[in-house]
Order: sequence, then C-alpha cells, then structure tokens
Amino acid sequence: MSLAGGLATWMEPLQAADLASLTTGPSGTPIILSTWRHGLPANDRAVEVLNAKGSVLDAVEEGVAVVESDLTNRSVGLGGRPDRDGFTTLDACIQDHDGRAGAVAFLREFEHPIKVARAIMDRTPHVMLVGNGAEQWALANGFTKRKVDIPEVRKAWKEWLKTSDYKPLVNIENHDTIGMVAMDANGKLAGSCTTSGLAYKVHGRVGDSPIIGAGLFVDGDVGAACATGTGELVIRTSGSHAVVEMMRNGVEPEEACERAVRRILHKHPGLKGHQVGFLALRKDGAHGAYSVYKGFDYALTKEGRTQLADAPYMMEWD
Ligand code: ASP
Repeated sequence: MSLAGGLATWMEPLQAADLASLTTGPSGTPIILSTWRHGLPANDRAVEVLNAKGSVLDAVEEGVAVVESDLTNRSVGLGGRPDRDGFTTLDACIQDHDGRAGAVAFLREFEHPIKVARAIMDRTPHVMLVGNGAEQWALANGFTKRKVDIPEVRKAWKEWLKTSDYKPLVNIENHDTIGMVAMDANGKLAGSCTTSGLAYKVHGRVGDSPIIGAGLFVDGDVGAACATGTGELVIRTSGSHAVVEMMRNGVEPEEACERAVRRILHKHPGLKGHQVGFLALRKDGAHGAYSVYKGFDYALTKEGRTQLADAPYMMEWD
C-alpha cells in the first residue's frame, strides 16, 4: 500500500467500534508476543511462570528478565552497548491489566531494570524513577548493584569513538528492545519492555521503552501493544498508545500496527534507515504485528506452542 493511500486511511474517521468483538472471551490458553528472536526464551519463561500459577504480570516480568540476564545480548541488560561516554544505561517499564504501571530510566549497574520497574509500581505511589534517584531507591529497596565489564563491548565502543558516527541501522543489532505483551488463560493482560537503548546514544538519553504509551501500553478493556526501534519516533507519536486506541475503535490489531507505522512515516517525510516495529494483542486474543522495514521478527506463543514469526512490513531496506 502506498504511503499516500495509507495516509488517507489514517485520516478517515475510525470505524464504529465493534465492541461486541472486543468483549468476547479469552482463548482459553495464554497468548504471548515478544519482540525479536530473543523473545523465544522470554516467552518460554513466561509460560513456565503461568504454568506454575504465577500471574500474567509475574510472567511478563520474569520473561523479559531472562533476556536482561543474557550478557551476550548487546541491546538489553548489562551486556548492552554503552552510550557515547561508555556507560550502559538501562530503561524498562511494566503495566498490568488495570493500567497500573512502573518504570525506570537511565539506570546503571542493575541486572534487572524490569524488576526495579515492577517494585516501583508495587511499592511507591509513582510510575517512574530515573537516574541517581532510581538507583538510590533500588538500593534502599533490596536491589544490589552488579558491575559488568565486557572487553568485546568496550573494544567496539573505543572503535566507534574513532569516528563517533551515529547511525541507527535497520535491524542491525545496535538497538533491539524486548517488549512483551501477554494474556493469561483467563484473559488478563500485562506487558513489559526493557532495553539498553540505542548504542552510543548521548549520555542521559531515554528512549521510548520505559515510557508508558510509547514503548508499551496496556488497557485490559481493550488490549496491549509494545514497540521496538528508534525510540524518538515512537515517543513522538505515542506509538503503543495509538495502537491500543485504534483497537478500541474497532481496528484489527495488525491494521492498528500498520497505521501506527504509516503515521510515523507521514510525520517524518524522507525518513530513511530507521526501523520501528509494533506488536498488538487484543483482549479477545486477536493479535498482529507490523514494521517499517522487512526483518522484524517476534516470538509468538499460542495454543501451547512458541514460534518465531515475521512481521509484515512497509518496505525493504536496500
Ligand atoms: N526502542 C529502543 C530505544 O529507542 C531501542 C530499540 O528497540 O531498538 O531505546
């Protein structure tokens, strides 16, 4: 579909909400979607948690925590690539069926930003803590620091410093959040999102991933969505919130993701080389995905099976 055609569709009044289809019951088995291939072990862990009678909120927390602990992952957790000053800084958020949320941003030296985000949600009246304040709060609330030095990462950063050429490249692993949206067998929804953000970002930069409505949005009355890719584009368009609101108005999940992508492209004429991908899960179990460029894959767990799926896309990268 051309961008112009897409724009017309975006601007049309949204179709009358088919609330009946939004209020049908859950599928009876959990449905979990998470971004990129690293979603496979994350979904498996989330299923384990649900099988052990954990809540869907526990499942999305524990699921993405697996990827945070993987020090070979260069875009999530302490194995992530650093900012331009050499610090790996982490962003995460979590949200439940009822919209309760916790988030942490610009956090250093904690293995599990997602667990800090969950604790902020559970133990404070706030949604988000950042930087030093978040660090102090985490230390005072039972979290401990972990220092990690990965020679390969340090070497690549030093190499990058020689040119300091900042170019987020499509599907090349200098950025790739894990975002997860899940529904348990009873139809309860939750979502999580965690990242080390864009490699070699300006020190202090926070992306979309810890921002409720941008990197993640859950509304148990409708559904959930999460995003990956160049966070600035997702923040500017409140991407995940837009996807959920479109579903609220009767747009099918995949179409909602596609419209959110088209909106980004419409708002940024001439944009090239920036990947953004969305995942959406509606409360009746319908789900969808869409990305700017070919190459966005995601882990899908459904009817007891987890597999990798390719998202439909707007264009190919040449
Ligand atoms: N969205 C993340 C950020 O901008 C990075 C990514 O998902 O690729 O920090």
